[in-house]
Amino acid sequence: MKHVLVIGSGIAGLSCAVSCAQKGMQVTMVSPFPSERSQSVLAAGGINAVTPSHEAGDSIDSHIEDTLKGGCEIAGKEAVRGLCESAPDIINWLEKLGTVFTTESGGSISKRAFGGQSHRRTCFCGAATGKQIVTALVMEARSYEGMGRIKRRLWADFYGSLIKDGTCYGAVLYNEATRQPEAITADSVVIATGGQNALFGKTTGSTQCDGYVAGKLLMQGVELKNLEFIQYHPTTIETAQKMMLISEAVRGEGGRLYVEENGSRVYFMEDKYGEHGNLMPRDIVSRCIEATGKQVYLDITFLGKEKIMQRLSEVYELCKKYRGIDITKESIPVKPSVHFFMGGIAVKNNHETNIKNLYAIGECASIYHGANRLGGNSLLAAIYGGRVASASIEQAEANDTHNDWSAELNEAKEKLLSLQGSQSPYPVKYLRDMLAETMRENLGIVRNADKLRQGIDDVSFYLSVADKIRFDNSEMAYFGYSLKGILTLAKATLLCAQSRQESRGAHYRSDYPTSSETYKAATIIRYDEGEFTTYLDTEGKYES
Ligand SMILES: Cc1cc2nc3c(=O)[nH]c(=O)nc-3n(C[C@H](O)[C@H](O)[C@H](O)COP(=O)(O)OP(=O)(O)OC[C@H]3O[C@@H](n4cnc5c(N)ncnc54)[C@H](O)[C@@H]3O)c2cc1C
Repeated sequence: MKHVLVIGSGIAGLSCAVSCAQKGMQVTMVSPFPSERSQSVLAAGGINAVTPSHEAGDSIDSHIEDTLKGGCEIAGKEAVRGLCESAPDIINWLEKLGTVFTTESGGSISKRAFGGQSHRRTCFCGAATGKQIVTALVMEARSYEGMGRIKRRLWADFYGSLIKDGTCYGAVLYNEATRQPEAITADSVVIATGGQNALFGKTTGSTQCDGYVAGKLLMQGVELKNLEFIQYHPTTIETAQKMMLISEAVRGEGGRLYVEENGSRVYFMEDKYGEHGNLMPRDIVSRCIEATGKQVYLDITFLGKEKIMQRLSEVYELCKKYRGIDITKESIPVKPSVHFFMGGIAVKNNHETNIKNLYAIGECASIYHGANRLGGNSLLAAIYGGRVASASIEQAEANDTHNDWSAELNEAKEKLLSLQGSQSPYPVKYLRDMLAETMRENLGIVRNADKLRQGIDDVSFYLSVADKIRFDNSEMAYFGYSLKGILTLAKATLLCAQSRQESRGAHYRSDYPTSSETYKAATIIRYDEGEFTTYLDTEGKYES
C-alpha cells in the first residue's frame, strides 16, 4: 500500500489526505495545530463555481476567462481549465460531505458577486465558508482515521525533506513533544503549508503560515515561482494582533468605498470605473485606495439591518467587537493589507515539483492565479489541487525504502543543539520583527528599484547573522531553526520583484508602470550553494 506524507492540514492538506485515503492509500498528515486552527477556517466570502443554478449568461468558459484575465495572462491555461471545469463537482462533493451552503427559497445555492468576475458565481456558507468546509473535511478524514488509513500527527513541524538524486523519499519532522527530530519515509510527500504571511508581520492571515517550508525547500533544490505577486486586500481593519479582513462580500452586496472631501463623499472607485468600480480586481482597488492618501471608508448601511444580519453577520460582529462600529448605522474605516500569495512552490499541472515524488498544493503552490487571484478561487484551488495530486500519486511508482537517512537526522540534531546557549546579540524575535518592517516598507503596493535594492541589502544582512542568533530555550525550537529558511524566502521574493521590470497584476512598479511583452511569463527562482538565480519560464516548463 502506498504511503503518502502530507505536510499541513488546512483545506488543501485535508482534501489531498481524504482523496488519497479514498483511493486506498495510507496517509500521514502532519501539522503543529489541528485543522480547526488552520488559516482555512478564516475564509469568509466563498468558493467559485458555475453550478446548475448559475446566473443567466454565466458558463464555465466565462469562469475560465475571468480567472485568466485576473491572472494577467500568466496563469497556466490548461490548469485553469481543469480547475473551473471541476468546480461544480467539487461543490456537489462538499454538499454530500455535509457543507451547508446558503440557499435561495427554492433550495438552489445562493451566489454572490466577487471582484473581477463577470457574473455572480461565488457560493457561500453565510460568512463562514472556510469553517464549514474544514468541518466537513475533518469529519471525512476522521472516518478514514477510524479505518486506519489516515493518521493525523499533531504538534509536529516540518524540518526538511529527504531528497536524493532528484527524488523525494520523505521528510525530517521536529516532534514538539519529545523535542527531537524524526525521519518519516513515504512514497510521496505533499506540501500543503499555506502562504507566507509571517514575512510581513501583521496580515489578514495566520502566523502559522510563515513560508519556512518554501524557503527550506528552495535551499534544498526546489524551484519557486512568481514570488513577487502578493495580493493586498483593499479592505481590512487593524487590531492589536492582526489585520482583520472586511470580506469582499460587503462590496459584493453593494458596499461603496469613499473618501471625505470638503464635507462630502467622493466615491472614487465609481468615479473612475463606473457602476461596478467597487468590485474591480483587488490590486486595482488597493492601488486606488493608496493613491487617495486619505482615510477610506466602506459604506453598507443602505442594505438595511435585516439583510446585513442575514448575509454579513460575521462582518457585523467583527466590526462591533474589535472597533465598536455598528455597520448597520456607520461606515467602516478601511485600509489595504497583505492577504494572499499568488507565488510559491513551482508545480506542473499534476502538482509535482521539479523533484520527483514531491508535490505542493493549496496556497503554498503557485499555478492557478497568475499575477492576481480572484476572490473565491483559492478555496477551490486548494481542494482541486489536493485531488489532482492524489490522482497523480496513485499513478506514480512507489519509492525504494532502503535508503539510510541517519546523516540527515544527525544534521537536524546538531542544528537543534547549536541553538542552545547561543550568546549572539541578535534574538530571533528581533530579526523576525526587523524582517517584517523591511518587507512592508520595501515590498508594498507600489515598488521601485531603490526600495527593492534596500530590501535586498537589509535581508542579506539578517541572513549574514542568522546562524548566530540568540535563542531563548523557553521558546519553541521551531522559531530558532526556521529563521534561515524564512529569511531565504524573503530574499528570493525581493529578488523576483527586482527581476520583473514591468507592472503586472499585483506587482506594480512606479519605475516601470506598464506591462511588457518580454515579461509575459512566470518568474522562476532557484538556489544553489548560496547563489540565487531567476529566469522567466518562457518555455512553459511548468505548464504541461
Ligand atoms: C481572512 C481570510 C479570508 C479568506 N477568504 C477566502 C474566501 O472567502 N475564499 C477563498 O477562496 N479564499 C479565501 N482566503 C484564502 C484561503 O483561505 C486560503 O488560500 C486557503 O484556505 C489556503 O488553504 P491551505 O490548505 O493551502 O493552507 P492553510 O489553511 O493555511 O493550512 C496550512 C497548514 O500548514 C500547516 N503548517 C504551516 N507551517 C508548517 C510547518 N512548518 N510544518 C508543518 N505544518 C505546517 C498549518 O498548521 C496548517 O495546518 C482567505 C484568506 C484569509 C486570510
